[in-house]
Amino acid sequence: MVYFASKHVAGRHFLQLPGPSNVPDRVLRAMDNPTMDHRGPDFGRFGKQLLEKVKFVFKTQGHVVIYPASGTGAWEAALANTLSPGDRVLMCETGWFASLWREMAERLGLRPEFIKGDWRRGADPAAIEEYLRADTAHAIKAVCVVHNETSTGATSRIGEVRAAIDAAGHPALLLVDTISGLASMDYRHDEWGVDVTVSGSQKGLMLPPGLSFNAVSEKALKASETAKLPRSFWDWKHMIASNATGYFPYTPATNLLYGLDAALDMLAEEGLENVFARHDRHAEATRRAVRHWGMEIQCAEPLHYSSVLTAVRLPEGHSANALRATILEKFNMSLGNGLGQLNDRVFRIGHLGDLGDLQLVGTIAGVEMGLAAAGVPHKAGGTQVAMAYLNGNA
Ligand SMILES: *Cc1c(COP(=O)(O)O)cnc(C)c1O
Repeated sequence: MVYFASKHVAGRHFLQLPGPSNVPDRVLRAMDNPTMDHRGPDFGRFGKQLLEKVKFVFKTQGHVVIYPASGTGAWEAALANTLSPGDRVLMCETGWFASLWREMAERLGLRPEFIKGDWRRGADPAAIEEYLRADTAHAIKAVCVVHNETSTGATSRIGEVRAAIDAAGHPALLLVDTISGLASMDYRHDEWGVDVTVSGSQKGLMLPPGLSFNAVSEKALKASETAKLPRSFWDWKHMIASNATGYFPYTPATNLLYGLDAALDMLAEEGLENVFARHDRHAEATRRAVRHWGMEIQCAEPLHYSSVLTAVRLPEGHSANALRATILEKFNMSLGNGLGQLNDRVFRIGHLGDLGDLQLVGTIAGVEMGLAAAGVPHKAGGTQVAMAYLNGNA
């Protein structure tokens, strides 16, 4: 048995990070099966149906490539398969994850250009349009946007980003990171004309870390034929050729794929739209509690509020890390830390994945008790406000 606080605290650990999220027992049971021969006949049948089944969560009819890697691997795959050394790419500074993706692009030999941001809202479609209009030579080869910026709790409106690219009449590819948005918030790969969607297993898909995804458009596939960045492990070509018969070019994460199969069944049974509505409702209940406490939400644009997580700013002079440490020690709950420039300034409440009303109320109660225990000034009663909202909006 593994305990997470320094000494044992009875009861189940509350893993309220914005990923990894709670893994439902049904998914754990599905993974607890013998690892099969990934080149045997049973695997081909299993792989083929799984590669078809996974498409509905991306809302695509196209290829979905699955890597045995964390989300960062799928970021690299998206860039390496579509771009060439020295290519200019347009990225938007929505927060920590967008900044890491930009750094990666630089390390791969691309030339990223960053539209500055204040880490309090999603990408600005008007700024993207203006930037692309100025690029009359069409030297920018891709626009890269983070759909759900997990460091700030702000989302970018991908449909509007698509419209901005179209309005500028620009041929750049659209690459979107929805590592933490997929299966928690509305996402439409085909309808939004996304060329590569990047995702991961340990957030809305309710799996442990270890799988990541590229959903690939025809246009992206065509770009990959001439893209010159070196790639081997990440190459779509071998993956897609092998996937046609349900197999993989190298050993897949077999047991995680069993888990994925079960998680997709759970999402289909609940219905994606119901899953999204549940997340919206939990996010609103959380924000009401935060506002009642008199604390500030990091996302400053209500249109961009994330239903995946809420990042909460601490009053000046108080430490978010000390608060999180108190909550972990006393109540056995893990909350997300502030990343990069937000370190110690914010903590993040994950309300994604396999979460019911009582787990959410327990989470909010744990935060409220922690605020009192850590001596952070707040107005008590946020938990009751969240409960009243949930009750009125069952
Ligand atoms: C979690 C996350 C990543 C990084 O994924 P890893 O699985 O840690 O490699 C990238 N982008 C976003 C938006 C994320 O939430």
